[in-house]
Amino acid sequence: MLDKLDALQQRASAALEALTDLAALEAWHAQYLSRRGELTQLLRSVGQLPPQERPGAGQRANELKTALEAAYERRQADLKRQARTQALTAERVDVTLPGRPPSLGRLHLSTQALRRIYAIFADMGFQVYRAPDVETDELNFELLNMPPHHPARDMWDTFYTTREGVLLRTHTSPGQIRAMRDYCPEPIRVILPGMCYRYEQVTARSEMMFHQVEGLAVGKHIAMTDLKGTMTEYAHRMFGEGRKMRFRSSHFPFTEPSVEVDMDCILCGGEGCRVCKYTGWLEIAGAGMVHPVVLRNGGYNPDVYSGFAFGMGVERPAMLSHSIDDIRYFFSNDVRFLEQFG
Ligand SMILES: [Zn+2]
Repeated sequence: MLDKLDALQQRASAALEALTDLAALEAWHAQYLSRRGELTQLLRSVGQLPPQERPGAGQRANELKTALEAAYERRQADLKRQARTQALTAERVDVTLPGRPPSLGRLHLSTQALRRIYAIFADMGFQVYRAPDVETDELNFELLNMPPHHPARDMWDTFYTTREGVLLRTHTSPGQIRAMRDYCPEPIRVILPGMCYRYEQVTARSEMMFHQVEGLAVGKHIAMTDLKGTMTEYAHRMFGEGRKMRFRSSHFPFTEPSVEVDMDCILCGGEGCRVCKYTGWLEIAGAGMVHPVVLRNGGYNPDVYSGFAFGMGVERPAMLSHSIDDIRYFFSNDVRFLEQFG
């Protein structure tokens, strides 16, 4: 009996040392110390021993039980402490690590250019006037002195909608009529920014959609010199002080007289290069004095009021400033392109 108890003690102690987690510890407890455990079975069998052996064996078995229970509790405490330490290490939050910055959006290059234009014209007293992208033929063409079959319409291949006489605006100029009818007979100083649409072949030089900024000033005694001064101030603020300006006569149905506004080439400074087609000049706007017919369509008497208007692109100047050689990048949504202009 005593040999059995010694053997049990050795096996139980070795097993207790070897186990490494709480589940194994519980299994160990069940094997040796539970009601059906090996030690309990031995204790029960003490009663079947010859009387002279019982006290020694009983005492030895009880000592062993106490010893194993104490060892069990120590081991349990050890394992719990170990488990907690492991959990703390594994789930540790390193407060010294720098935070992960959220990925920030940024303004589209066209929006950046538009905002610079707004700021420059705001300083000259121009308000932003919003007009719709979907227009009527009447506002897009007719009231701007382009009746049906007018040859100037050939300049634009147009997106017509399925509804008769409704189209995507080909320019921001219909906003001129809307602004005049809103403000008449007050004087006007507005810019009309927005997207324009033309059913054109898309190439590196031309997109089927692009931004324009239209400008309109109407009042008494507005003269060509006001237009020239405004355009010159804009070019100096946008492209650099001291830029040379040139006003070339031109034709638009809704202005009379009409001019093309040129600026000396920002790449070659007027020497002549590939971008300015070796002329030394870059066209930055079309402009002119508001045609009397258009003034009248807006509600103003052309014998009393006069005005000037201009229209300019937004993407083309941005292409020049940033040496971008393909306008299609602007709306192709390639983040690698957009991220370069934070
Ligand atoms: Zn040039």
